Amino acid sequence: HLFNFLLVVCLFVVILCLFVIVLNHIVCMFVCCSAAMRLIHGDIVPNSKRNAVPCTARGCKWPKVGDHVRIPVIISSLERNFINRVLFSFHKSTCIRFRWKKPSHKDFINFFPGSGCWSYLGRVGGEQKISLQKNGCLYTDTVQHEVLHALGFHHEHVRSDRDQHVRIHFENIQEGKESNFQKVQTNNLNTPYDFESVMHYSKFAFSKNGQPTIVAKGNPNLSFGQATTMSANDIARVNKLYQCSE
Ligand SMILES: [Zn+2]
Repeated sequence: HLFNFLLVVCLFVVILCLFVIVLNHIVCMFVCCSAAMRLIHGDIVPNSKRNAVPCTARGCKWPKVGDHVRIPVIISSLERNFINRVLFSFHKSTCIRFRWKKPSHKDFINFFPGSGCWSYLGRVGGEQKISLQKNGCLYTDTVQHEVLHALGFHHEHVRSDRDQHVRIHFENIQEGKESNFQKVQTNNLNTPYDFESVMHYSKFAFSKNGQPTIVAKGNPNLSFGQATTMSANDIARVNKLYQCSE
């Protein structure tokens, strides 16, 4: 009987502990995360299949059939309606058309709630994921940003001509994050450098000391990297790269 009694006490303690852990987690979700910290969006996942510089020259574009570029997608995130609405913004302004993946589609994008917001650069082949963490990535500009990576676009501040427009302060960048600021031989498609692009990092991105990591040469006081939706240049680039007709 004593053994049974001890067993019951033990079970009770275990259940109580589990309850406290779950309760703590729920409280934390509301308290800690209510500040909904926005993540620095869009670290590009290194693609082992090809050196991604500049990948669109080597066939990482999505194929165009007729007037449209049809990109099969699945959305395994619960935030399906929101993601869908953002994908529709591409339908309105470009010749990109997202379609539900069918069994016959080999290359497709899977929007899933991973850790952080990230994407591959251009079409990788097969299933390619775009991670949109529930807390921090579900903003129009962030979803557009990750989709633009998958369409083949780099960050604005790494453009081949960026040194004419911005100064990178490597001394203020967190150790190990310097590669996010390395210049890339991008195809700029005759569009101007654009501080309003959703692909532009903020002035203090990856700062280790609160000092700016990117400063506009024309105006050191300029704030940027706060676009809430694709700029006219972001849209123009998609239309140029994929030769969308008006
Ligand atoms: Zn990015």
